[in-house]
Amino acid sequence: MSSFDENDAFEAAAKPSLSARAMMAARPATYLEGLNPAQREAVEALQGPVLMLAGAGTGKTKALTSRIAHLLNTGTARTNEILAVTFTNKAAREMKNRVAKNLGQTVEGMPWLGTFHAICVKLLRRHAELVGLKSNFTILDTDDQKRLLKQLILAANIDEKRWPARLLAGVIDNWKNRAWTPDKVPVGEANAFNGRGIELYAQYQQRLKTLNATDFGDLLLHMVTIFQDHPDVLAQYQRWFKYILVDEYQDTNVAQYMWLRLLAAEHKNICCVGDDDQSIYGWRGAEVGNILRFEKDFPGAKVIRLEQNYRSTPHILGAAAGVIRGNEDRLGKELWTEAEGGEKVRLIGHWDGDEEARWVGEEIEAMQVGTRGMAGMSLDDMAILVRASHQMRAFEDRFLTIGLPYRVIGGPRFYERLEIRDAMAYFRLAVSQDDDLAFERIVNTPRRGLGDKAVQTIQLAARQNGVSLVEGARICVDNAMIKGKGGKGLGDLVAGLDRWHAQLRAEADTHVELAEMILEESGYTDMWQTDKTPEGPGRLENLKELVKALESFENLQGFLEHVSLIMDNESDEAEEKVTIMTLHAAKGLEYPAVFLPGWEDGLFPSQRSMDESGLKGLEEERRLAYVGITRAEEICTISFAANRRVYGQWQSQLPSRFIDELPEDHVDVLTPPGLYGGGFGASASSHLEEKAARADAYNSPGWKRMASRGNLRAQQSPNEARNIVIDLDAVSAFTQGDRVFHNKFGYGTIMGIEGDKLDIEFDKAGAKKVVAKFIVPAAKAGDVPF
Ligand code: ATP
Ligand code: MG
Repeated sequence: MSSFDENDAFEAAAKPSLSARAMMAARPATYLEGLNPAQREAVEALQGPVLMLAGAGTGKTKALTSRIAHLLNTGTARTNEILAVTFTNKAAREMKNRVAKNLGQTVEGMPWLGTFHAICVKLLRRHAELVGLKSNFTILDTDDQKRLLKQLILAANIDEKRWPARLLAGVIDNWKNRAWTPDKVPVGEANAFNGRGIELYAQYQQRLKTLNATDFGDLLLHMVTIFQDHPDVLAQYQRWFKYILVDEYQDTNVAQYMWLRLLAAEHKNICCVGDDDQSIYGWRGAEVGNILRFEKDFPGAKVIRLEQNYRSTPHILGAAAGVIRGNEDRLGKELWTEAEGGEKVRLIGHWDGDEEARWVGEEIEAMQVGTRGMAGMSLDDMAILVRASHQMRAFEDRFLTIGLPYRVIGGPRFYERLEIRDAMAYFRLAVSQDDDLAFERIVNTPRRGLGDKAVQTIQLAARQNGVSLVEGARICVDNAMIKGKGGKGLGDLVAGLDRWHAQLRAEADTHVELAEMILEESGYTDMWQTDKTPEGPGRLENLKELVKALESFENLQGFLEHVSLIMDNESDEAEEKVTIMTLHAAKGLEYPAVFLPGWEDGLFPSQRSMDESGLKGLEEERRLAYVGITRAEEICTISFAANRRVYGQWQSQLPSRFIDELPEDHVDVLTPPGLYGGGFGASASSHLEEKAARADAYNSPGWKRMASRGNLRAQQSPNEARNIVIDLDAVSAFTQGDRVFHNKFGYGTIMGIEGDKLDIEFDKAGAKKVVAKFIVPAAKAGDVPF
């Protein structure tokens, strides 16, 4: 189901909206005063096509939102006559806020400010019948979409193992991004999906119609079709949307581009802003060419270039420019700033990924308090931007351990991901066969031919005998109550659950080995291995991450408790938090302090992207690096690790080639903790020399060779000495009423004990549930330097 706000926007026109004339009288145009001449030109040129083509942080979005304010303030347009499009919900919210700020009041209405999808769903509800749908159509999520495709694949007698639904979904999405309905897919694509792609696409569209449903790609595709086939409808909207504005135009795909061009064809009041150097969605069909041919599409367009950057320090800009210079296929723009001074971009290497996460955590805490003569920073002002979502896990775990609040944007937090929840359900069942919820989750994942009916049979057997679902399943198996493939599948599952449970009790293998075995034997890993879509490999990597996370726990139970606590401790939204997100999700955003971890070849630039798209892929990765660095206002920290566990194997990593491209003048190489730290010959007299040698070593190819051989010494970080040493013996000694100390939450009193979970009323932080091993008796904390 759709989660879009589908208020009828046209009806909103009848409601009192901003009365333009009244506003003009009431509000002097203060928003114009803060603009530079080029921005002002873009804001004031209200009529005709305008293209703002400019680098990061030059105030494109600022100009765009000022332009909306200006349209309203001058009475040129009413809120519902402005169509303003951007890419993410977060960006849309941000845009709305900026318009309101410009006008000095909240903006009622603006019904057509949103993402392409949100706007198209509103439009399609009004005209659904023109593409054979009813206005109450449902929007399928990707799981539903794949289920439907799978039915079609099976019905067509195609081996779904070799040609999985996920692959077909990718092919079809791609075509939809190009605005190809089944009859418009060009002959050159005839070989797609083993030669059956086009035919299955047509069947799929037919099925969707019968179900009165669309997928996400349809929202745009149907609207383009409607506009093309029904000139009267198009004309109506051309009249409605007097002014069109588009942010991040470099990332529009063909369907979005056509949709915009159709709408703007009549009045041509379209203002697009973008940066070719920030085009990062080529893999999803974005065409950077759209921005480059704007002048051809709209002859006489006013093209405005902005070069002054208001976001970042000169060093940050210099570093970003150095990296993006490596791309051949670009227009080439130079940025400058009036800002002076500031820290150089900081570069640091670590022994491994966990060490990297530990260091970042410490650094964030130091920044929060204030460090190197700088005032303390809010956690809201710091962001960690990763290339791959599996990188998040190490940070999330570390931050949970030290009690550092964080939020994950643009995706679920690690332990909330589908594949992680599935895997955890298997682990839970290995621990306890009474866990009915876990059983329901995995009974048919991967598919074992157990449909709704089979599951009902199991439930009935369990209920009638007053036993758990696993026992119910055993009864069904023993009495052959479920026939065919499903019966065999259930038999295998029950046998597997028994085996894993027995193995866990016998402690024959380590819990890490057992976890790997469970994922293997249940067919769960295999399910994602045969997955050919862009998400498949990411999910596999997340599973490997999960197994890796297990290593720091003594057993499976301990780990499961840790995770249940994480889920429990959902903190409130008002609290300050560090942001963790992917580089892709960070587009358009800015933070005073940015951490860019994992700059290692293969991880970033991503090997997959280079394998699939060669030089083009590498250039897109480089643009992503540019996007990452230019998110930072004051402090930008790039890091890499010499070792990383990839697919369960430790691998020596080479620093990213993008690191070589960072201009030396703009980079400060930091002392790697754990590399030469602690007592490693650190006599006071040689300290400076050693520091210089370290910096050199890091810059030199020698370091890289060294790193690649995994030949670095891991030693304890000097910073680590600050951490409280946990006294495990103390855990059992806790009783209710004890005064205790937690690294982050401070002092508190134990109110209740449940296994090794403690309910603690902290003096400052309030009530929290915490694992006992993160707690020390208050008396012991007395000599800790906090
Ligand atoms: P990106 O390419 O990353 O999307 P952008 O070009 O959209 O960047 P903005 O986000 O609009 O840039 O602006 C970057 C920062 O510079 C913002 O904090 C904005 O408020 C500030 N800024 C923009 N123009 C000016 C100006 N003329 N005077 C002062 N600050 C400005
Ligand atoms: Mg922007």
